[in-house]
Amino acid sequence: MITVDIEGITKYYGEQKALDNVSLSINKGEVIGLLGPNGAGKSTLMKIITSFVPPSSGSVIIDGYDVQENPFEIRKRIGYLPEHNPLYHDMYVKEYLSFVLKTYPGHSKVKLKVDEIIELTGLGLERKKKIGELSKGYRQRVGLAQALIHDPEILILDEPTSGLDPNQLVEIRKIITDLGKEKTVILSTHIMQEVEALCNRVIIIDNGKIVADDTPNNLSRKDNKTSVYKVEFKESVNKQLLEKIPGISKVKNLGQNQWHLSSVGEKDLRESIFKFAVKNKFNVLSLSMDESKMEDVFQRLTK
Ligand code: ADP
Ligand code: MG
Repeated sequence: MITVDIEGITKYYGEQKALDNVSLSINKGEVIGLLGPNGAGKSTLMKIITSFVPPSSGSVIIDGYDVQENPFEIRKRIGYLPEHNPLYHDMYVKEYLSFVLKTYPGHSKVKLKVDEIIELTGLGLERKKKIGELSKGYRQRVGLAQALIHDPEILILDEPTSGLDPNQLVEIRKIITDLGKEKTVILSTHIMQEVEALCNRVIIIDNGKIVADDTPNNLSRKDNKTSVYKVEFKESVNKQLLEKIPGISKVKNLGQNQWHLSSVGEKDLRESIFKFAVKNKFNVLSLSMDESKMEDVFQRLTK
């Protein structure tokens, strides 16, 4: 059940190519993480899907409607949280959400009304405050609320957790997880852990191109031949010497006497590293193996 069909999208800003022949089908109910470094083209792709920016070529079809030909049909189906969520700081939360709802044609038929949305996004205690008086986390909730106000089937959230403190982050992620049970969600982020926590499909985009499209699990597994060890010695150690440890393929200094040692292959090299230290009379202050492999995949694909 495809809801969003992106076909050969290219986007130029003047001379600059921001998206390069991107094709992608999104199924109903998927929670997709669009992952990529700054400038990769994530926001541009989202703006094109939501009909706010036209592509230079290619098409986006949502529920059978072409985004460029039927922008109103598209906006009825999509809730969009832009990257720099533009809110009216002088409006009260409830007033603002009612205002947004009224901009949708046929809003009286919309199931979820303002009070329900306020409840859903945890804005109950803040509903009589001015938006300008809210903390960043609550402003982000208002942003989510305005994206949800017309009960869209598809949610497009551009970096929904950026700039939030750890508590706010957990709360917003929980709301997104709940929403993902009912809606198709496309969110962008440059945080690997976020994709692992929230999404069932990850699309890595770099330089305007899709470089990976898989489940978070599969992506991690594909790269499970690479391990990264973090080791700290008491003494300063010569890089060339570390490169001679059997099985180590890459050595990177992290400052002072801390190192990242990478290996390719299934074998756990912690013992070899320790033996190397003993043999060369170095003291190991700490040694750990990095468990998160997503980060490696991301770095390898987008370097
Ligand atoms: P991301 O969201 O992944 O950081 P963007 O889609 O914002 O990436 O940007 C992709 C590229 O397009 C960047 O190089 C950016 O500088 C450029 N770009 C984005 N918006 C504009 C614009 N309105 N005018 C000119 N260049 C733009
Ligand atoms: Mg962006």
